Amino acid sequence: MSYDPNNIFARIIRGELPCHKIYETDAILAFMDIMPRANGHCLVLPKAPSRNIFDVQPEDLAEVSKAVQIIAKAARKAFDADGITVQQFNEEAGGQVVFHLHVHVIPRFRGEPLKPHTGEMADPELLARNAEAIRRALDAA
Ligand code: 5GP
Repeated sequence: MSYDPNNIFARIIRGELPCHKIYETDAILAFMDIMPRANGHCLVLPKAPSRNIFDVQPEDLAEVSKAVQIIAKAARKAFDADGITVQQFNEEAGGQVVFHLHVHVIPRFRGEPLKPHTGEMADPELLARNAEAIRRALDAA
């Protein structure tokens, strides 16, 4: 399975498509998931091209892991979440839909199950507010 340089996340990384950005380093980018399965659902991905867990360079995966922890702590604080779910899918059979490696960071609240994938886009204003809330929590950390 090869890497498609025109997948949607590659285009976001190159700045060809917009995103609600939360956090960025030389190695990673974090932004809001456009079809969140819970309020505050965000994604962390390496900037280097990698399809998924099978071809990612270990050093890029390490940078993603570090950022996932940073974002998880900030998202918990930003939304006063009871917990955080971290998910990562590989290949179609593994549930992957976008073929640039990414990790889901999803705030969770007692008694609230994850929403199913409806394909419905969230209100852009809500996504912008949520990104801002996480950025503020990061700044305060
Ligand atoms: P996965 O490949 O891990 O199954 O999920 C891909 C995720 O990317 C989904 O949660 C979906 O909502 C999200 N997604 C798909 N297209 C876009 C997009 O254009 N922008 C953003 N921010 N998220 C997207």
